[in-house]
Amino acid sequence: MLTTPPKDRLRLAMQKSGRLSADSLDLLTRCGIRVKMPKERLLLHADNFPVDVLFVRDDDIPRLVMDGVCDLGLVGTNVLEEAALARHTSGGAGGYLVERSLEFGSCRLALALPEERAYTGLRDLQGLRIATSYPQLTKRFLDEQKIAAEVVCLSGSVEIAPRLGLADAICDLVATGSTLEANKLRAVETVFKSTAVLIRNTREFSAEKTHALEILLRRIDGVQRAAEAKYIMLHAPRASLAEIKKLLPGSENPTILPLAGDDTRVALHAVCQEAVFWETMESLKKAGASSILVLPIEKMML
Ligand code: ATP
Ligand code: ZN
Repeated sequence: MLTTPPKDRLRLAMQKSGRLSADSLDLLTRCGIRVKMPKERLLLHADNFPVDVLFVRDDDIPRLVMDGVCDLGLVGTNVLEEAALARHTSGGAGGYLVERSLEFGSCRLALALPEERAYTGLRDLQGLRIATSYPQLTKRFLDEQKIAAEVVCLSGSVEIAPRLGLADAICDLVATGSTLEANKLRAVETVFKSTAVLIRNTREFSAEKTHALEILLRRIDGVQRAAEAKYIMLHAPRASLAEIKKLLPGSENPTILPLAGDDTRVALHAVCQEAVFWETMESLKKAGASSILVLPIEKMML
């Protein structure tokens, strides 16, 4: 049942199927937004939040948001920046704003050469033919570095271009480097570092949409903050409290509780904003702490 009229519901574009899809859906789920996922449907209504999700190819997301077909999009900055550069050069109108950087979809656009080709520095790229699906980002990098090279535009399977004799080098996305290795290529320069982002159209939203976006952003912040944060409980000698507080990363004003039948020790509860490592736990123990519990936090609102 939809209680908000469709015009007041946020329309969010996300990748239908690919490397960003699972993490994008997971983010919505962790924000408490329920979207059922029958793959055959392109537009789905969340049943407990005024948002409709449009499932598309990631390459279409920047355009859909910039043109205002969708209010929001989840997309990699590689695709976004490529589209923005293309639009700028083709003189198109419309714009976007990055609302949040997200903790998934990290990769880099890298220049790679066949393993056997020597590489001593950028000038070795001079005069080469470079195959890529990211001509704008590649050209911008080459221009900035003052390298004259030919950019060969391919929409996929870029990594086989050198073997086919289509190009001397490639400029493609790399995360672990295993695809490059399998194709006997090695990355020599990073052209662009990418991560997934939430973008919005720059036009003014209705009051209802603005309100819904505020709630969504607050939840995303809560989810991202909670991802690293931990709830710590421990027992400690009263006398070591100052030392113990210093060891707890990013925790302010912990709660101190008395322990029944023991005046010399207290219980301390604190939220640590940063990861808590084994080393920290060992230091806490050395400082006299015992019964140390580190618990994950599911959601957090400050
Ligand atoms: P679509 O059919 O939606 O166009 P695609 O084949 O272009 O899919 P995917 O390979 O699913 O795209 O990658 C989508 C995005 O995931 C990339 O644009 C990038 O932002 C991000 N990404 C993260 N890691 C990698 C990686 N190792 N290789 C490629 N993309 C990655
Ligand atoms: Zn794509």
